[in-house]
Amino acid sequence: MRRLEGISASPGYAVGPVHPIRRRILAAERRTIVPELIPSECERFGAAVDQARTEIQDLVDSLARELGPDEADILSTQLLILEDTMVWDATLAVIRLERINAEAAFTRAVGDLATRFLEIEDETFRERVNDLRDVEQRVLRAFLGDGRPALDLPAVPSVVTARNLAPSDTAALGRDNVLGFAMDEGGPTSHVAILARSLGVPAVVGLAGRASELEAGLQVAVDGTGGVLIVEPDTGTREHYETLGLQQVAANEKLAFLRDLPALTPDGRRIAMLANIELPIELDEALARGAEGVGLLRTEYLFFQHATIPTEEEQVRTYRRFVERMAGRPVVFRTLDVGGDKVSDYLGAKREYNPFLGWRGIRFLLANRALFKTQVRAILRAGSAGDARIMFPMITGVQELRDARSVVDEARAELQREGHEHCAQPQVGIMVETPSAVLAADLLAAECDFFSIGTNDLIQYTLAMDRGNARVSYLYQPLHPAILRAIDQTVAAAHAAGIGVGLCGEMGSETRLAEVLLGLGLDEISLHGAALPKIKQVIRWTTFAEARRLVEHLLTLATSGEANLLLAEYIAQRKRERALAGDDT
Ligand code: PEP
Ligand code: MG
Repeated sequence: MRRLEGISASPGYAVGPVHPIRRRILAAERRTIVPELIPSECERFGAAVDQARTEIQDLVDSLARELGPDEADILSTQLLILEDTMVWDATLAVIRLERINAEAAFTRAVGDLATRFLEIEDETFRERVNDLRDVEQRVLRAFLGDGRPALDLPAVPSVVTARNLAPSDTAALGRDNVLGFAMDEGGPTSHVAILARSLGVPAVVGLAGRASELEAGLQVAVDGTGGVLIVEPDTGTREHYETLGLQQVAANEKLAFLRDLPALTPDGRRIAMLANIELPIELDEALARGAEGVGLLRTEYLFFQHATIPTEEEQVRTYRRFVERMAGRPVVFRTLDVGGDKVSDYLGAKREYNPFLGWRGIRFLLANRALFKTQVRAILRAGSAGDARIMFPMITGVQELRDARSVVDEARAELQREGHEHCAQPQVGIMVETPSAVLAADLLAAECDFFSIGTNDLIQYTLAMDRGNARVSYLYQPLHPAILRAIDQTVAAAHAAGIGVGLCGEMGSETRLAEVLLGLGLDEISLHGAALPKIKQVIRWTTFAEARRLVEHLLTLATSGEANLLLAEYIAQRKRERALAGDDT
């Protein structure tokens, strides 16, 4: 038995076999063929290339349509490789001369070319090798008629391990057979952590190389609450974690009665409790836990699940399903927030030195107006079925907000002209997740309908800590005076302008912070369905006046260490009081 200390990313316990997530790399089997088969092997090669070409061309067309010709250029290189005589002629020559099957001949030709490229002292040629390998995999998939996803998904309930998972990987992964996660990299607000919390499964991240090296099938226990992974637990330890897991399920069931009760404090302050949704499969869970709407719909995932950019009609269909399912409750669609850690090959991701400070969120959208407008049109059209709201990510100032709003105005005017059913007066809000948005909150509040504070990025940008980097994850400090002040100021600015303000970062799912969020004066918390009942329960037994006193005290402290200590003492005191009153929940 070995204990690996990592970072707690999603609470809970699970025991099961390791399933390492690796990209499936297809390899060609080599067969010798009789001379009579040479023409049919050459034909098979032609057919596989044709199929790969059609796939890439579809991708290029959708990129060119939505993002413009420059972005499509990246994939056009792959088309050129398919036409390249060095690949084409060499493959046919190998089939004829060596009398081997087409896929093996093709792999040989690609391998030879890659070797030549690697010998050239030029970065451009080296980068071409990645394209070559990509093309090789596409053609091999066509040969094998293999439509399966490029990731090896777990076939039995397992603990998923990897160095890290990108959003496009997790969109393919879904929740089937996932008991928990253990990752080499990441911090409490990295993508896998968010996904695990929303699926209600435990996760430990930041295991520094020790998760991805575990062999498939090895038994592990994930202690997501303590941030520990136990490899090959002995019987006693296994039973201990299995019992904790069952206790957690029982505790959740005990809170089921809260589902239809409001998050109302004893002194009459009501907080709206909404859900953060990444994948459509999370909606049922959110509703079962009493979500009053969707406060953050991360639309990136719909894009990552497609091999090409979804068309307006496809988006309308998907968005409408969310709106209809929520039956009149609000659904806040955050427009596409790609960039940073949310990259997608087909959206033209380029390597950037500082991706979180680079081409992401609203910057990407305003640079790709056609794609942006298509998405806004789709949201507005879906909005005719209920209450759809629009929220822009990564806003840093009023000019961006105005530019983004002009896209909404254009989309509305177009839909009006075209006679499409749509929501004519959508609420339009922004994520407050950059320090500049906090500092300019009064100006921004004057020009939008609501704020939603994105503390994952706000903490990252304010404390200058990469949210995906395990080595600086200790700086994820929601109670840092700079963060408490930022939230306090944002709430004050919103209320002075008469608009509502919510919080949709991971902070909202931390039970120990529930009183703090209440005392900060938020009107709404958007969080993972699994965490909702517990937070609601705390709000229901805390007066706003008391929570505000706590926050005012916290705001006087100089370090997050002192704030954590004060909060821990406060929570312990509250627990004692409730125990005396006979409450054991
Ligand atoms: C945030 O930044 O707090 C947020 C909710 O958005 P995301 O985690 O998707 O960047
Ligand atoms: Mg964010």
